[in-house]
Amino acid sequence: MNYKAMSKLKYERPLIKKMNAGMMNKFGSQSESTPVTHIDGVSVKSIIEKYGSPVFVLSEQKIRQNYKSAVRAFNTRYPKVQFAWSYKTHYNNAVCNIFHQEGSWAEVVSGFEYKKALGNGVPGSNIIFNGPDKHADEIKLAIENDSLIHIDHFEELYLLIDICSQLDKKARVAIRVNMDTGIYPMWDRFGFNYENGQAWQALNKIVESGKLQLVGLHAHIGTYMLSTAAYGVAASKLCDLAMNCKNELKTTVKYIDLGGGFPSANTLKGAIGLVPTPTVDEFAEVITSTILNYGFKVDELPLLILESGRVMIDDAGYLLGTVLANKRLSDGRKATIMDFGVNIMFTSFWYDHKISPAQEVSQFTEETVMYGPLCMNIDIVRETVSLPLLNRGDHVVVHKVGAYNMTQWMQFIAMRPNIVLIDTNDQTHVIRKAETLDYLQQLEVMPQHLQRNN
Ligand SMILES: *Cc1c(COP(=O)(O)O)cnc(C)c1O
Repeated sequence: MNYKAMSKLKYERPLIKKMNAGMMNKFGSQSESTPVTHIDGVSVKSIIEKYGSPVFVLSEQKIRQNYKSAVRAFNTRYPKVQFAWSYKTHYNNAVCNIFHQEGSWAEVVSGFEYKKALGNGVPGSNIIFNGPDKHADEIKLAIENDSLIHIDHFEELYLLIDICSQLDKKARVAIRVNMDTGIYPMWDRFGFNYENGQAWQALNKIVESGKLQLVGLHAHIGTYMLSTAAYGVAASKLCDLAMNCKNELKTTVKYIDLGGGFPSANTLKGAIGLVPTPTVDEFAEVITSTILNYGFKVDELPLLILESGRVMIDDAGYLLGTVLANKRLSDGRKATIMDFGVNIMFTSFWYDHKISPAQEVSQFTEETVMYGPLCMNIDIVRETVSLPLLNRGDHVVVHKVGAYNMTQWMQFIAMRPNIVLIDTNDQTHVIRKAETLDYLQQLEVMPQHLQRNN
């Protein structure tokens, strides 16, 4: 019983339930009852008062720290390292510009992301254009801007040769290579396969054509990878191709790009306490030692490019929300309805996000199903979470939502909320405004015969 509620007692059917007091729950995890009242130096309450609920919050300080420590992990081990920010992970321009200020290139997988990177002032030569769907006009733009085009399939390779013949300009290209790294299912739908010789065939075609400049080799073997060894295999297979390019095709590959895929410190559903998440340092150790020991001459070591996304930003992002209601389900379980759901927390489909109360709470916790506000059965934020008793109007903080949620969010039933950045001086800035009905209807077109006065 919460004393605030004493004056206005609500009737709840009496029910005998097991309560936990600061103990381990049945999944062996500590209950998430420690209140989180501030993000950086700013109070959660003040953010919600000013910007509404729900609201996404990003810590600029944490993003910069993550970036710097990832760079340090690699450039203390290897002489030439470059990171390229994966736009699809979070392409808000303010966020991209933090990474670009830190020295990151841009990695894009569509025409609009490519144009966003140009708009953010990234020199064309520092943009990596990935993905299976590059349109001819986008490829032309990328060639004119001297960008790095990573070829995904033979159709694209032939298209590039065609376009380069017309433009009389040599595109700077790499191929994306897929391979067996011991992790299954293999991501063999992207790029050219290593084991069956397709990658080597593509490299031959590029060099033979005389129209393209082969500058790199790329792999992105998966996402949320928990195996450092897989990166050792990938690095070694790309090194093998690079050596063969030099010896047999007389072409020196300038860079090896190992893509992204390092895991953030989130908890995969059902994996509580199972697999420890390797650190960026552990990945860096395996990757750099593989390349350094491969047998390149020191002055011919390729540039090492990384396209890390989620590990750079996941833990810099928070979602603040508010309790709408509590309920008992027919089987007696407690349910709490929040004002945020899977519409803006796409990653709740595979993560068990840590959720903390944002104010002092009772020490008693109870297993709770946490629902979102949508009128849709699958809108479940947490299937079971051990939470203290929260009342209508209480706030919570969802942790580690910086990656993918603000690009994969959907406009379904509810509109997308504000995104607020806390800068390194603890000042808050809206970096994307909450959507409005006007905004939603801007692109709608009413045929004449359906107009109201017809
Ligand atoms: C999505 C993506 C990334 C970033 O992946 P993370 O798993 O978030 O690090 C990097 N490169 C390519 C080609 C991608 O598609």
